[in-house]
Amino acid sequence: MESKGIRNDEVLAVLRENAKRITAPKRAVIDVLLGADDHLTADEVTRRVQQIRSEVSPSTVYRILEEFESLLLVVHSHAGQAAAVYHLAGRSHGHVTCEMCHVTFEVSSSVFDRLARDLMGSDGFELDRHHVALSGICARCRD
Ligand SMILES: [Zn+2]
Ligand SMILES: [Zn+2]
Ligand SMILES: [Zn+2]
Repeated sequence: MESKGIRNDEVLAVLRENAKRITAPKRAVIDVLLGADDHLTADEVTRRVQQIRSEVSPSTVYRILEEFESLLLVVHSHAGQAAAVYHLAGRSHGHVTCEMCHVTFEVSSSVFDRLARDLMGSDGFELDRHHVALSGICARCRD
């Protein structure tokens, strides 16, 4: 199991360093992201936050996710036509998504080493390994 990379106190330290207020909704978003072992859409983050603090609105959660992204605490990724998914930064990996069951899987970042090298060598293009998922059919659906 890969480590989460970033801890609660590290998130709070970055917020303090950047003179951001640490509000109860932000603490709830951090708790949800730390407790998630998968990739959550903003709606899913909102639902889980509202289980802790029912008064937090979806727009508040979106704003918090944006702020966390601008501080490089959170990253998002796209899988197919589905909504963007979010998780804490610090884990280096790529994504593949199954077109049949729509599950997004993490794959080792090294899977993209060759592709990244070739793109840089031939086109000077720098690959973002994390942002967009490759699509295909997962092992379970192929059975
Ligand atoms: Zn994006
Ligand atoms: Zn991811
Ligand atoms: Zn599948």
